[in-house]
Amino acid sequence: MGWMVPSPPQYRSGKTVAIIGSGPSGLACADQLNKAGHLVTVYERSDRVGGLLMYGIPNMKLDKNVVQRRVDFMGAEGVKYVTGCHVGEGDVTLESLRAEHDAVVIATGATVARDLPIPNRNLEGIHFAMQFLHRNTKSLLDSGLSDGEYISAKDKHVVVIGGGDTGNDCIGTSVRHGAKSVANFELLPQPPPERARDNPWPQWPRIYRVDYGHSEVKTHMGKDPREYCVMSKDFVDDGEGNVKGINTIRVEWTKGASGSWDMKQVPGSEQFFPADLVLLSMGFLGPEDRALGGVVEKDARKNVKTPPGKYNTNLKGVFAAGDCRRGQSLIVWGINEGRMAARDVDSYLTGVGTQLPVTGGIVKRPPYELLAKVDGAPLDLITAAA
Ligand SMILES: Cc1cc2nc3c(=O)[nH]c(=O)nc-3n(C[C@H](O)[C@H](O)[C@H](O)COP(=O)(O)OP(=O)(O)OC[C@H]3O[C@@H](n4cnc5c(N)ncnc54)[C@H](O)[C@@H]3O)c2cc1C
Repeated sequence: MGWMVPSPPQYRSGKTVAIIGSGPSGLACADQLNKAGHLVTVYERSDRVGGLLMYGIPNMKLDKNVVQRRVDFMGAEGVKYVTGCHVGEGDVTLESLRAEHDAVVIATGATVARDLPIPNRNLEGIHFAMQFLHRNTKSLLDSGLSDGEYISAKDKHVVVIGGGDTGNDCIGTSVRHGAKSVANFELLPQPPPERARDNPWPQWPRIYRVDYGHSEVKTHMGKDPREYCVMSKDFVDDGEGNVKGINTIRVEWTKGASGSWDMKQVPGSEQFFPADLVLLSMGFLGPEDRALGGVVEKDARKNVKTPPGKYNTNLKGVFAAGDCRRGQSLIVWGINEGRMAARDVDSYLTGVGTQLPVTGGIVKRPPYELLAKVDGAPLDLITAAA
C-alpha cells in the first residue's frame, strides 16, 4: 500500500560492519546496525538475498515477494548487499573482511545436512532436501519452472526420510510437482496427541501434528504419508545406477531402567518401498567451516561458540548470530539473535554502550542518541524490557 517509506539514517558513525549470510539473523542484525548509523554490507553466496527465507522455505509457505520487498526496503535505507560471494572460497575471507571492516558478524546458518551412509547411497535420485528445495525455488523465480533446472518429482514415487519443517516442505513441493506417491519415514514412534509426562512445559511439546504437506497427501492420495518406526537398510539399484527403492525394517523402542530409550529391529518386518526420488531430511549438524576460516572456536555441538548471553566469538570484533550460533531453529529466533548481536556490535563499535533495544523492543526512527544530542531534540527511542 506504500505506507512504509524508507527512512535512511540521518547520522553515520563512520564505522563499517560486514555480515556474512543474509538469512533472518543477518538481515535483522544489518537492519539494526544500519539504523544505528553504521555502514553495513551483507555478503551472501547465493544469487538472491534472504537465506532460508528465500531459498529454503517454499513460496507456498512464504511468498518471495514479501522477502524481496523487505530486502529492497533495507537497501533503500542504506544496507549494501554483495551476492554470489562465498566467503572463504575466493579472495573474500573472514580475515579480509576483518581487515576491511570494523566488525564482522557471522550469520551463516546451520547448513551441514545429516547424511544417511547406508549401502548404495551414491545412486542417482538420492538428494539432500535442501538441494531439492533450493533448486525448486530458484527455477520458479528465474523462469516459472520452465528452465527445467530443478529436481522434478513428477510421476515419481517419492520417499522423504526425516520429518520436521524441512521434510514437510519436501512433501508439499513433491505434491505440487505431481508425484505418483509420497511416503515419509520417521525412525521414532508416532508422538502422543498430548504431552507425555516426561515432556513438561516449557519444553517444546513433542506431540502429533498434521502439517500442510501431510494433509495434502492425505487429500490427494488417500493416506497420511508418514510411516513411523522405519529404519532404512539400503537403497536398491535399478541396474542403471538409479535408485528404484529402499529396503527397510521396522524398529521397536523400549525405555530401559535408567530411563534411556533402546531401539531394536523387529525380525520379519522387512519391507521394500518403491522410490525413484529420495529426499534426505534428517536435520542439520551445524555451520559449514568455510566462512569460519579455521580460527573461530566452536562449542560441543559444533556451533559457533560465544559466552552465555553474548554474541562475540573468540576473535576480537567478530560476532555470531542465528542458526550458526544456536543450531537449526526458527525464524523468530534468527531475528532475535540478529537484533541482540547488533547490540553487542554497536557497544563494541561505539565503546559507550548501545541504544539499540533488547528483545521485544523496537526503534523509532531516528533513534540516535548522538543525533538527539546534536539536534537538541528529545531522544525518540522506545526500549521495551524483555
Ligand atoms: C526447509 C526449511 C523450512 C523451514 N521452515 C520454517 C518455518 O516454517 N518457520 C520457521 O520459523 N522456521 C523455519 N525454518 C528454520 C528457519 O528457516 C531458520 O531457523 C532460519 O532461516 C535461520 O536463519 P539464519 O539467518 O541463522 O540462517 P539462514 O537462513 O540459514 O541463512 C544463512 C545464509 O548464509 C549464507 N551463507 C552460508 N555460508 C556462507 C558463506 N561462506 N559466504 C556467504 N554466505 C554464506 C547462506 O547461503 C544463507 O543464505 C525452516 C528451515 C528449513 C531448512
